[in-house]
This record gives sequence, C-alpha cells and structure tokens, in this order.
Amino acid sequence: ESGLYLVATPIGNLEDITLRALRVLKSADVILAEDTRHSGKLLRYYNIKTPLLSYHKFNEAQREAAILQKLHQGQTIALISDAGTPGINDPGAELAKLCAGENIPVIPIPGPSALVTALSASGLPTNEFTFVGFLPKHAGSRRERLLVASDQTETQIFYVPPHKLQEFLDEALPVFGDSRLCVIARELTKLHEEFWRGTLGEANRIFSSRHPKGEITVIVEGKEKFVAETPSESELEHELRSFVSN
Ligand code: SAM
Repeated sequence: ESGLYLVATPIGNLEDITLRALRVLKSADVILAEDTRHSGKLLRYYNIKTPLLSYHKFNEAQREAAILQKLHQGQTIALISDAGTPGINDPGAELAKLCAGENIPVIPIPGPSALVTALSASGLPTNEFTFVGFLPKHAGSRRERLLVASDQTETQIFYVPPHKLQEFLDEALPVFGDSRLCVIARELTKLHEEFWRGTLGEANRIFSSRHPKGEITVIVEGKEKFVAETPSESELEHELRSFVSN
C-alpha cells in the first residue's frame, strides 16, 4: 500500500528493528530521515539502498508540499528519526496531520520508544502515566510545568539531555519533595544501560558528583493518591462537645 510509513528505529541497539520495518525501508520509494548521516549507519548495516532525503525541524515546512505531491502520485514514503518512534519528540507529527487531512494513508510501523522502554522496566506504576518529554527552555515555564507534574497522581516521564540532569534534579527536588521515588534510565539498550532507582533526594546527592554521559529518561513516581485524613484539633473538640451535650 502506498502512503506515509512512520517507521520506528532503534534507540541504541541496532538489533531493535522489526522485520516489517526492514521490509518497508527496503521497498519504499524514498526514506525521509532526520539526519541522513546518522541514519546512513543503520541503513548500511541492513544493506538498505533506498534513496535518502533529509527531513528535520529546520526544513520540514519547506519540504512538505513536495512530499505531499509525491504521496498523491502514489509513492511510498518512509519516515525515520534519529532514534525511536517518529513524531514522539521528533519530526513526523506534522506530516502525519497533513496526510490525515488529505486522506493519504499514514501507516505506523511500531518499534522502540525510549519512554515506553524506560517505563516498562522502571518498577513504578505503569497503569497511568504522563509523558512530559523535554521541559521548556525558559526557567519560569519549566518551574510551572514541574509544579503541574508534581500534583498529578500518574507516573511522570521526562526526557532529559545529559548536561541538564543536574539542573533537572535541582529544580525537581523542591517541587516534588525529597522522598518522591524516581528512576533514572540511562543509555537504554546500549552497552552501558543503567537503571538508577531511589528517592529524588538521593538522586540529587549522588548525581551531583557523577556527571553521567549518554541519553537519559527520568521517571518520577506520581503523587500519593489517598492521603489518610487526620482530624484537626477543632474537629475533635467539636465532636467532643456534641458528645458531651448529648
Ligand atoms: N523519538 C524518540 C523516542 O521515541 O523515544 C525520542 C527522541 S528525543 C529527541 C531524544 C530523547 O529521548 C533523549 O534526549 C532521551 O531523553 C530519550 N532517549 C532516547 N534514547 C534513549 C536511550 N537509549 N536511553 C535513555 N533515553 C533515551
């Protein structure tokens, strides 16, 4: 079937790609890649010789008309990003929207995504979660976003660039409190994969001297759902009085 294929690619380990993804990448008319040099490695590894075209946040708007035209002509276009699932904090979402609006089939080829990979092995509740992704650049908006996250009962998932881990921990600590559990999932599927688990307080202390390298997903436990209510003194007094007066 012709259309736009959103093809998930590995988040580190080159073996994490599906047979279907490989078949689609081999048979597509063109592959749109976020970084053609980076994706070139994956495609060479699997001996895929489909023509590559760059498609990233700086040229997506100007490429769109030509891509839609190719799709209307019945071409098969595969879109890949540098890592993981296209459209998830990566190019792809806008093109999917445009195609959907023009009745062009959008076909997802599922595969890895760092958020699900980290969450599944985190040990934190997986039944309800919020994917926050990257925090805003502006310090004020960042704090606001953290405040919202800290009040939610679902597990909270963040993408954190390695050089921003300390800033993240410094800013999250006073907002979430130091006993909130967190999992720092680093270099998933790669040689130095690590799951650090502990409280935000411990994380802040330990990582301030570690300066870890590589890609990081941080997961923070949701706010406690049911806080046991302890009656206030005035409530107790009120109950006592009505008891006595009866
Ligand atoms: N589209 C990707 C996906 O589906 O996961 C996400 C792309 S986003 C630009 C890149 C961020 O994802 C990184 O900064 C990091 O927070 C997270 N990430 C990607 N690969 C990872 C890995 N191997 N281990 C931990 N986090 C990773």
